[in-house]
Amino acid sequence: MSCPICHAQTDPKYRPFCSRRCADLDLARWFNGSYAVPSQREEDAEIPDADEGTFGGTSGDGRLH
Ligand SMILES: [Zn+2]
Repeated sequence: MSCPICHAQTDPKYRPFCSRRCADLDLARWFNGSYAVPSQREEDAEIPDADEGTFGGTSGDGRLH
């Protein structure tokens, strides 16, 4: 398991990320991505309540099964 942001070794404290920094970066990227896609509803995508949804996903960001 590697950090989805920088592919460094994952820290159990911040998994699936390697650090708090990357966790914040991913959140910011998630927000930017949701706002950049006009077809996505902001009210649904505003707060991802499934933080662990990104744990198993590598290519499909924000896609929940
Ligand atoms: Zn990282």
